[in-house]
Amino acid sequence: MPERLIIVGGGQAAAQAVQSLRQQNFAGSITLIGEEPFLPYQRPPLSKKYLAGELPRERLYLRPASFYADKHVELELGARVAEVDADRRVVRLTDGRKRDYDWLLLATGSRPRRLDLPGAELGGVHYLRSIADADAISAALTPSAHIVLIGAGYIGLETAAVLRQRGLRVTVLEGADRVMSRVVCPAVSAYYHRRHTDAGVDIRYGIDVRAFNGAERVESIDVAGTSLLCDLVIVGVGVVPNTELASRAGLACDNGIVVDEYARTPDARVLAAGDCTNSLHPLLGRRARLESVQNAVHQAKVAAASICGVPSAYSEVPWFWSDQYDVKLQIAGLSQGYDEVVIRGDPNAGSFTAYYLAGTRLLALDAINSPRDFMHAKKLIASGTRITADELRDPSTDVNALAG
Ligand code: FAD
Repeated sequence: MPERLIIVGGGQAAAQAVQSLRQQNFAGSITLIGEEPFLPYQRPPLSKKYLAGELPRERLYLRPASFYADKHVELELGARVAEVDADRRVVRLTDGRKRDYDWLLLATGSRPRRLDLPGAELGGVHYLRSIADADAISAALTPSAHIVLIGAGYIGLETAAVLRQRGLRVTVLEGADRVMSRVVCPAVSAYYHRRHTDAGVDIRYGIDVRAFNGAERVESIDVAGTSLLCDLVIVGVGVVPNTELASRAGLACDNGIVVDEYARTPDARVLAAGDCTNSLHPLLGRRARLESVQNAVHQAKVAAASICGVPSAYSEVPWFWSDQYDVKLQIAGLSQGYDEVVIRGDPNAGSFTAYYLAGTRLLALDAINSPRDFMHAKKLIASGTRITADELRDPSTDVNALAG
């Protein structure tokens, strides 16, 4: 009897897994069970062109319906898996149906971290993760609306940029003392602060949001010492991995489903890929939970290879991008643990690159409107390129040439 594979989750990792499994001649049946009522789609445009009204919904879909039919994939959309019985190799859906598997791929993604504050359940308090969220935000926008974004991370700032470009009044409230403080250095934060304030976004730092007020819909926000009137709130304070299915099935979870560099859990028949995992990354020499398209795609390929019996370890340098106004930020590597940053190029000219060093080792790079630097970065980081801060500061050093 052919093997039965069930993919739980219908996002970026799930779609890639289907593609890679069939490419590698997986001959068994594939069932994709996804909670959302849509074909697997790309989320990045939700805070960019889709929210701007510049991209129709159909263009979000990663593949047309015919792709899944051609690959003989059974799509169970709008269906949620409630439980995994790893001993019996059965999943149970919320409607009570049971499905047996030989292989299980958990690609359950992540969900927005919710603010547990008084008034958080009021109408007009939004999060942005799904097509439904983006549509609800768009439907609630009126030309005179004052929108308050909580959190100056990627999603908050991308959304701020789109809404400003749509002519709306936008305020960003951030607890830290600079934007994107978890991921970029102060010089990059300063650049983005300027770009947003020049565009008319009001960014306030060190803000402790205490409560949302209103009769049915949010009308104001209490922050320490004062209150701010608003018509709509969008919260972007990070995500939490969807690990509940895995942990209830007895699989180890620690800020993500714990997998090895082959996307395998300790249960030989259960793998996991994408935002929901905490994976071993040979290149980084440690575990990390990554939230990016690159990670979802690459780890899904890794999982497919493991299932097909040709294991191939996770081997990519992590990378990420963010679009705000006409500025493209491309990040390669992870900068945590850096001890020095060198800026090359001119922030005032709108094009520069921040290189993050640990001693003489290049850890990561933020390329701002500098696609050539980004192009070479992955090679430089993967090969463990050694370079001193002084060499980087020297304008005559051709850093990209070191990538060979
Ligand atoms: P997801 O795409 O989240 O898919 C998981 C799916 O599983 C969801 O549909 C979920 O409903 C479903 N699911 C969960 N539990 C169950 C269950 N029990 N039963 C059935 N289905 C279930 N990344 C970048 O690299 N660059 C960007 O510019 C960028 N911008 C982004 C902008 C926004 C607004 C958002 C929300 C994300 C952005 N990301 C970006 C992140 C990127 O989209 C994610 O890292 C990626 O989608 C992860 O893919 P995934 O398959 O792991 O999870």
